[in-house]
Parts: sequence; C-alpha cells; structure tokens
Amino acid sequence: MVDLLPYNTFGIRAAARDLLHIRSDQQLLEFLQSNCEPVFILGGGSNILLTRDVDAVVLHNEIKGIEVLSESDETTLVRAGGGEVWHEFVEWAISHNLGGVENLSLIPGTVGAAPIQNIGAYGAELKDVFHSLEAVNLEDKKPAVFSKNQCEFGYRESYFKKAGKGKFFITSVTFALQKIPVINANYGDIRKILTDRGVSHPNIKDVSDAVIEIRRSKLPDPKLLGNAGSFFKNPEISAEIFSVFSEKYPEAPHYHLENGDVKIPAGWLIEQSGWKGRRFGDAGCHEKQALVLVNYGNATGQEIVDLAIRIQQDVKEKFGILLSPEVNWI
Ligand SMILES: Cc1cc2nc3c(=O)[nH]c(=O)nc-3n(C[C@H](O)[C@H](O)[C@H](O)COP(=O)(O)OP(=O)(O)OC[C@H]3O[C@@H](n4cnc5c(N)ncnc54)[C@H](O)[C@@H]3O)c2cc1C
Repeated sequence: MVDLLPYNTFGIRAAARDLLHIRSDQQLLEFLQSNCEPVFILGGGSNILLTRDVDAVVLHNEIKGIEVLSESDETTLVRAGGGEVWHEFVEWAISHNLGGVENLSLIPGTVGAAPIQNIGAYGAELKDVFHSLEAVNLEDKKPAVFSKNQCEFGYRESYFKKAGKGKFFITSVTFALQKIPVINANYGDIRKILTDRGVSHPNIKDVSDAVIEIRRSKLPDPKLLGNAGSFFKNPEISAEIFSVFSEKYPEAPHYHLENGDVKIPAGWLIEQSGWKGRRFGDAGCHEKQALVLVNYGNATGQEIVDLAIRIQQDVKEKFGILLSPEVNWI
C-alpha cells in the first residue's frame, strides 16, 4: 500500500494499492498492456478529495516536454507533456512572448489535468487556447487524439468529467498560443494592480504578475493549509429564476452570460448563509474565501464531505439554489 498524503493538496491521508511514476507514453502503454488491476490517474492532486482508500494502482503523470510544432501568422502550436506543472508551462509561454495563458497563472496542477475541468480564472479559460490533446484509452489501451469539439468544454466541464470520465489518460495537450498577445486586464483587480504599479501598457508578464499577486493575497497556500481551491462551482440560473431571486436579494453580485443565464458567485451565497470562517473539528470554511473548504490538520475526506453537504443544504434552504461541487470526490 502507498500513502497518498503527499499527493493531494487537501492533505488527506488515504492509501492506494500502489503508485507508478509515468514518464512516457511508451511506459504507459507497456504497463497497461501487462496489467489487469484497476488504475487511477493522478496529476498534482489539487482537484481531488479522497474520502476513502483508492483500491487501484495510482498512475502519477510525470510525462514532461514542451515543443513548438508549427507557426502561422497568428498562432504558434505548442505541445506540452501532460505531467508538466501547469504554472511552469505558463512561465514558458510568457518567456517566449506567446499569449493566452497568462491570466491562468499560478493555477496548481498539471497540464494533463487542465482540460478535465477546462481550468479558468480571471476572464480566461483553457478552451480559449486549446487545440487538441493526445490520450491513451484505458479500455482498448490504444492512443487517441481529441479535437476541441470532441472535448465538449463548458464551465469547469468537459467530456472527461462526463461520458469520458476515468476512461482516458491525457498524455499531452497542444495549445494554439497567440503570437501577438491580446491583453485581457479587465477582470477583477488586475487593472487596479497595474495602475497602482504605474503600468499603462501591460504586456503578458505584467498581467501574469498581477494575477499572481491577487491569487497570493486571496487564496490559502495548500502547502500551509490543505485545500483544493474553489470547492463549488458558481451556479448558473435561468433569467426567469434570476428575476425572482434579484427581487429578494437586489444586492447579490451576478454576471449575465451569453446564453441568457445568470451566474451567481457561490462564495457570496455561502457567506450569506453564515458559513464563512466556520469549522467543525479540522474541516472548515476558509475565513477569507467562503468558497474554499480547508483542512486545518487532520480532517478526513468524509469530514470535508459532511461539511460540504451542510453548506449545500443551508444554501438550498435560504436561496433555493443547489451548489454543485467543482472538486472530484473519490
Ligand atoms: C489553491 C488552489 C487554487 C485553484 N484555483 C483554480 C482556478 O483558479 N481555476 C481552476 O479551474 N482550478 C483551480 N484549482 C483546481 C486545480 O488546480 C485544477 O483543477 C487543476 O487542473 C487540477 O490539476 P491536477 O493535476 O492537480 O489534477 P488532479 O487533482 O491530480 O486530478 C483531478 C482529476 O483529473 C483526473 N486527471 C488528472 N490528470 C489526468 C490525466 N493526465 N488524464 C486523465 N485524467 C486526469 C484525476 O483522475 C482527477 O479525477 C485550484 C486548486 C487549488 C488547490
């Protein structure tokens, strides 16, 4: 048995049958062809909550490498190994003056996991620069390629969280990065930080630095306090439901979406339900960010789940809105 404590940012103790470091596509294929035990794929462990032991061999993605595949007038196609650390890939892109991922700076985890929930932050999403990905089908043990359409990206969603869940090991991701970066500094406090720094014509490094400053000030560092970032997704409600909701809560922050729905920040709903800063034993709702559930030391995965369910129930009772988890419970 292997202890997964060092492999998940929630800092939960759980065991797995075994753990294998996967460093190449070839090694992965050979292992799959000779093994009949169940497998579980793990990257940085920053989006999972372990509620029990993992009765499988954990395949830890460590496939590295970043290479330029081709260039057009507007974009450069870059393939990155699924085991690359996401933020190191962002730094690589910035150092080559290739735009499109700077707003996603400092998101924990690996390149290979980024398409799973179409990572997003500060007005950008992975799908904006996604070209294709390479994977290995765990059922027929053959390589597979997915185009952007086939990935069915949505808000913190993809094919790999639905019909394709647990069926593919993503070995590399190819990005279409911008050769002439389009600066996106209008989200959250990015503009304010740039103005405070006297930056009137920001480049992608300036945007990345601003995003890093905001994230460091707002989010707990998993090395110091176990967590997996936002625990719930921001709920999207129809315009009809929103019109009733906003009469009762005119002060509620909200964002109108292109499809007519309205997004409400889950953190606001949780805070208004009185959960910010509350804790039961070592499982708590963070004191600055209500959307982040934390492990103060020795919480079990089940204790975090129990807390999440109580929060869901209270938000549902007060607002009639059911929060869905963003974190993968195992
Ligand atoms: C402090 C903090 C802040 C965060 N901020 C954000 C944010 O701003 N935006 C955002 O979108 N997310 C955020 N997250 C969540 C997390 O960083 C992302 O979801 C990230 O993509 C997870 O990567 P990982 O390698 O750690 O995945 P893991 O946690 O290892 O895995 C997540 C899921 O994907 C599967 N998986 C992992 N790798 C592969 C692969 N190669 N092939 C197939 N399946 C795979 C796993 O089986 C699991 O089900 C945050 C997390 C933390 C801790």
